[in-house]
Amino acid sequence: MTEKRRILLADHAHQAIYPILNSAPKHYHLETVDAGRECLKKIHEFKPELILIDLMLPEMHAIEILKHLKQDEETRSIGVIVSSFQAMVQNYHSALDAGANYFLLKPIDPKEFFELADRFFKGELTPAPFMIKGEPNANTATCYHPVPSMITSYLRFWGTRGSNPVSGPNSVRYGGNTSCLEVRHNEDMIIVDAGTGIRELGDVINVNDEKNIHLFIGHTHWDHITGFPFFSPLYKKNTSITIWAPVGFEESTKELLTNMLRYAYFPVQLEEMHAKVTFKELRDHHPVHIGNITIESRYTTHPGPTLCFKFKAGQTTIGYVTDNEVLFGYHGHPNDIHRDHPLLQPDIELIEFFRDCDILIHEAQYFPREYINKVGWGHSSIPNATVFVKHVGCSQWIATHHDPLHRDEDLRIKTQLHLDVLKDCNFHCNFQMAYDGLVIPI
Ligand SMILES: [Zn+2]
Ligand SMILES: [Zn+2]
Repeated sequence: MTEKRRILLADHAHQAIYPILNSAPKHYHLETVDAGRECLKKIHEFKPELILIDLMLPEMHAIEILKHLKQDEETRSIGVIVSSFQAMVQNYHSALDAGANYFLLKPIDPKEFFELADRFFKGELTPAPFMIKGEPNANTATCYHPVPSMITSYLRFWGTRGSNPVSGPNSVRYGGNTSCLEVRHNEDMIIVDAGTGIRELGDVINVNDEKNIHLFIGHTHWDHITGFPFFSPLYKKNTSITIWAPVGFEESTKELLTNMLRYAYFPVQLEEMHAKVTFKELRDHHPVHIGNITIESRYTTHPGPTLCFKFKAGQTTIGYVTDNEVLFGYHGHPNDIHRDHPLLQPDIELIEFFRDCDILIHEAQYFPREYINKVGWGHSSIPNATVFVKHVGCSQWIATHHDPLHRDEDLRIKTQLHLDVLKDCNFHCNFQMAYDGLVIPI
């Protein structure tokens, strides 16, 4: 009677081992191990002539075991078949370079395995070329191709900087364009502010689809109008642009925008532009309806007549306040400001106005240390803005109108400070720092 050939199966996955054990021909004696150190021990006790090793055997992978085998005179000639689900060519080459006789892809067909074993014992086993087991007929027609659903209602921030645009390596994260927001609700679209962000927005607007554009300007400080001459739909025929702005203290918005296009400042005057431009006065407490978007406005605490907005689009209500000095001159702890505090009274009307908002976009331009020297500039410190949002009770707060002095790193630190102040105030709110390009589905 001939002696049985000894094969060691080294794999911790029972589903890989049992089908082989259960269908072993009589002339083979099989033993199993399921981890690396035990495998090395078993090799010296059982003295297998062939080993089937899982590439990623626990404790020691197959390549490490192969190195042990090849270093030792006694074990050098033991045949090794490395098996794996990981059909990567690098694994294939690593196994063969380490001295494996064959690289066998899982799942293992026991019949195929014993054919390989038979060939090994006849001295005829050579490695097969690398191949990938998989769906042989995969093509683009049969593959699963999930397609992102179209977002048809959203806010898109085209400019999130206040005061002055910035550029360079310190503003790559948050961007440097000044205020511009696109509010889109299905077919309807409005633009708020014409800061430098409006240039890029103008370049993507298809004027064939958007023949009637409505632009709302909260106030005419440079950061809210400086992109206006570069808004390309102004130069398109058959386009009508309605500009909604508050009544100025001095000149009207039409006069201001006409003057900013005088030849000394810009080579094209308003009347030379091809679009039909109409100016409309925006008055607080008088809602405007553009398609299915309703726009309401209120004055903020800021130099000159400055409006903030509330948009209702479908089921969502959004507040947008880029320039507003909350708690004028206050530098104390936010928790010391209760609803009836005298300093909060000038802000109560706006707090009530925004009470039904799902999303509140409100500036918080200054660190507390900066606000000490900037009282009366028309912008809020982080803690004072937090008091405002807390009293509104809005669960989603997006801060925009970033100070041009604040580099990306400062805005990262500011974000953490916002979260810390919200925690100090025991107010749970989803806070986010706006950046150029931010899209919020509504
Ligand atoms: Zn501003
Ligand atoms: Zn301003």
